[in-house]
Amino acid sequence: MTQFSPSVRHATLVRQSIVGADDAHYALCAGIECEKQIARLNTDGKWEKLLPFDFDHIHERAAQGDNSAANCQALCSGPNSCHRAKTDEFLALNAKADAMAGRTGQYARRQARKARGEQSLIKQSKNAWGHRNG
Ligand SMILES: [Zn+2]
Repeated sequence: MTQFSPSVRHATLVRQSIVGADDAHYALCAGIECEKQIARLNTDGKWEKLLPFDFDHIHERAAQGDNSAANCQALCSGPNSCHRAKTDEFLALNAKADAMAGRTGQYARRQARKARGEQSLIKQSKNAWGHRNG
């Protein structure tokens, strides 16, 4: 599902590459402290995949990301990979943002109860135990 052009993908892999003992370019995963060799630039100018990897938007497209090489990075993919870790983190941040914006979670349920004119659950339980409302 990547929208990066072939030239952007090539530039990204070149940027992330080191020169190996055999003088070939090896692209490393951009994940912090990962450095897995994900692709090798062959003499025909084509990248050979050494490990599964994806081209990833450094800044997610939904939040002003673009398809330039500056916003592109290659991350190892699959279970326990850098791309997996980034996606999980992104989803968790989105879930947190939704909760804080009142779209999901405890805050949204509290607002919904308020809108229906119901008391908060804490006040209801205090009443049940005979305490006065503060
Ligand atoms: Zn990685």
